Amino acid sequence: MSALHANIPIKPAYVDLHIHSTASDGSLSPAEIIEIANKAGLHAIAITDHDTLEGSIEALRHQHSCGLEILSGIEISASFDSGTMHILGYLMRLDDASLIETLKVVQEARANRNVQIIKRLQHLGADISYDEVLEVSGGGQIGRPHIAQVLVRKRIVENMDGAFNKLLKKGRPAYVERYRLLPVEAFQTILRAGGVPVLAHPFTLNAETEEDLDRILAESKQAGLKGVEVYHPAHGPALTAQYERLAHRHGLLVTGGTDFHGTAKPGIHIGIGRGDLRVPYRLVEELKRCAASGLHPYSVTP
Ligand code: AMP
Ligand code: FE
Ligand code: FE
Ligand code: ZN
Repeated sequence: MSALHANIPIKPAYVDLHIHSTASDGSLSPAEIIEIANKAGLHAIAITDHDTLEGSIEALRHQHSCGLEILSGIEISASFDSGTMHILGYLMRLDDASLIETLKVVQEARANRNVQIIKRLQHLGADISYDEVLEVSGGGQIGRPHIAQVLVRKRIVENMDGAFNKLLKKGRPAYVERYRLLPVEAFQTILRAGGVPVLAHPFTLNAETEEDLDRILAESKQAGLKGVEVYHPAHGPALTAQYERLAHRHGLLVTGGTDFHGTAKPGIHIGIGRGDLRVPYRLVEELKRCAASGLHPYSVTP
């Protein structure tokens, strides 16, 4: 930097590393997401659809023309006793055969489960068909939010929360279990594809104490975890500080994003969440260093 520029403040660069598109349960296409991210002045994004790379593949097709850095991304639902373990993956090689094969198995399990859920709902007296859900999904991975949308649209339930709380969530009558990867399998699948596995929104683990979370992070790191999603619209200041502290204690990277789903999750905006979220670009540089540095056993230097 020359002396001439020394006093000019550098505009901070921000990113959003947790975004869902129509490839899973978001309401906007990757191209629409890129347009909004550009308008918001972001420097980088990752589209992290549930159990599919299609959102990232589509987004990367626009990389050359969009002036925005795009990281490959995914969010895998792993099996976990007390709650939900969602694992974000970044910077994977999108043509990795083992990753593609593993996702195929997971997607098949998801598709079979969806059929079972709709059958259950029909048995419970709900007027709902698979075709209606397919139409709402727009052709990407179908998830419970799509089923919930049909239930809301047909006034079988009042709103999305009602659909999950009365029918679709664990313990409710239309809940159907499905095959999920173990956390270690998800970590290793991402690592083998040259990517960086990150624990998404840790509060959904339902860990009761910090010691519980400590133990989960220690075990997960042992199994291949590389980072923790610290910045998320559902994390208030206290949780954000706690997760940041835990990430540092365990030598894990910090990431963040809005978990944007478009109209499927109203009130959350790309780049800023509910308005006050800011994820610095520096975290992307650390992710790239991790992916390229051989800090994990399966990384391949480009
Ligand atoms: P699935 O991946 O099909 O098992 O569906 C789980 C997804 O549903 C989560 O990843 C969330 O995106 C979404 N979800 C969970 N609870 C709710 C809720 N109360 N309202 C809207 N979406 C929800
Ligand atoms: Fe979702
Ligand atoms: Fe999630
Ligand atoms: Zn998500």
